[in-house]
Amino acid sequence: MSTTFATKTYKNFINNEWVDASFEKTIASINPADKEPVGYVQSSTEDDLNKAVEAAHSAKKSWRKLGQSARGQILFKAANIIEENLDEIAETMTREMGKTLPEAKGETARGIAILRYYAGEGMRKDGDVIPSSDKDALMFTKRTPLGVVGVITPWNFPVAIPIWKMAPALVYGNTVVWKPATEGAVTAAKVAECFAKAGFPAGVLNFITGSGSVIGQGLIDHPLLNAITFTGSENVGQGVAKSASARGIKYQLEMGGKNPVIVTKEANIDQAVEAVISGGFRSSGQKCTASSRVIVESSIYDEFKQKLVEAAKKITVGNGLQEGIWMGPCASESQFNTVIEYIEKGKQEGAKLVHGGEVLIGGEYNNGFFVTPAVFEDVTTDMAIAQEEIFGPVIALIKAADLEEAIEMANNTKYGLSASIFTSNINSILEFIDEIEVGLVRINAESAGVELQAPFGGMKASSSGSREQGEAAKEFFTAIKTVFIKGS
Ligand code: NDP
Repeated sequence: MSTTFATKTYKNFINNEWVDASFEKTIASINPADKEPVGYVQSSTEDDLNKAVEAAHSAKKSWRKLGQSARGQILFKAANIIEENLDEIAETMTREMGKTLPEAKGETARGIAILRYYAGEGMRKDGDVIPSSDKDALMFTKRTPLGVVGVITPWNFPVAIPIWKMAPALVYGNTVVWKPATEGAVTAAKVAECFAKAGFPAGVLNFITGSGSVIGQGLIDHPLLNAITFTGSENVGQGVAKSASARGIKYQLEMGGKNPVIVTKEANIDQAVEAVISGGFRSSGQKCTASSRVIVESSIYDEFKQKLVEAAKKITVGNGLQEGIWMGPCASESQFNTVIEYIEKGKQEGAKLVHGGEVLIGGEYNNGFFVTPAVFEDVTTDMAIAQEEIFGPVIALIKAADLEEAIEMANNTKYGLSASIFTSNINSILEFIDEIEVGLVRINAESAGVELQAPFGGMKASSSGSREQGEAAKEFFTAIKTVFIKGS
């Protein structure tokens, strides 16, 4: 375990200066493995927010005029600086929100790859030529930035999610005001420090911390804001949508999930078990794409359950900085309490806890928010643990008579982010692709996998419908001008 970690107070980054919030009030960010502070961030006010948005507004014309290629070059620099600081950022992430160090390093490396992908966008086309019905005219489309974009991010991927929003926003010519989740704000500040060193002109990227209801809401309501991209809970997301549509600004929401995995009688059971363990319990189940409902055909149910429980028993839980630890703590006391409440609710509703769900106590466990990975069976689709997003290491096993019933059960939720099927039957695969109501369809692969070059996003209550990452990000972060030119 590293011992070089220094606790410090991080400032806001506004108009290329690191500044204290106007009331000089700070918020402690707490390590969920030992309850020690990881660092302090500013508790900003509306005055601070105004300065950040005004800086972004003042910078937007010159940033747009700089051109896509030059903007891409600055993103390349930011990627290199994050790479130089990868170990420190990853260690901060593990300390701040608990995911294991290898996972934190993987996420930081993902952030670097995303930056390089969008830096390369600087050299790609930003429009199409379309034949005009007038033979003497030239008609084409040209992408144009939206202006000032607000970026509101959650704590569970404190590096990758902000980067997959900010990198396309910036390369396509928008200026940014980023408000990270308070729970992951120290890790976010380390990323902001790397961006600050990359050489963006003043006001192009602004970083401000503070309460979601003050800074987050204030950002959406700010008259100089042109668009908002948000990832977080459904509850807050719905409020973001209302405020943004009332103001008539473009918005993008990615929210919760209740992601199903279907295991059919033709599945490779070992492959399915491995994927459910990884998809359900990595990051302590705190991924929007985590597997939380596993719907198994009755004829193979007993074999699958037995293998799953055996695999779950091997999971080592502890401080994510320690070698040999597979699953860290819940990210915060409130996450931990939510997980415990759902485990109790599951029991009360008549589901049977066949493994885990215990609070770990004794020794180092006493200082953190540790719970063992839980597997419930006898779960019916109307139970809270089969309907509501727990965002913790809890898997609900549900029996289905056949594929048709399994797909019906999988779709029986308000969410629609990701879903997997394990089967070797091509007809089942084709039916699943056709019938499943999600944005990410995964065949013989865990539900929690994302590729940065492909569109990412959900259906139903998981999303506002637009897509992030890959080329799809361009649709949100730009507007199209259709240009018609004729000689005079
Ligand atoms: P929250 O919705 O609580 O918070 C998300 C962000 O919104 C934070 O920065 C938060 O700030 C801010 N916020 C809080 N209240 C408001 C408000 N009234 N107005 C504007 N902003 C506000 O989500 P979590 O951070 O707890 O993240 C977990 C959730 O995110 C889960 O539901 C998960 O499924 C979802 N998620 C979805 C993903 C996807 O791509 N679909 C990916 C990752 C997570 P503060 O922290 O200061 O409260």
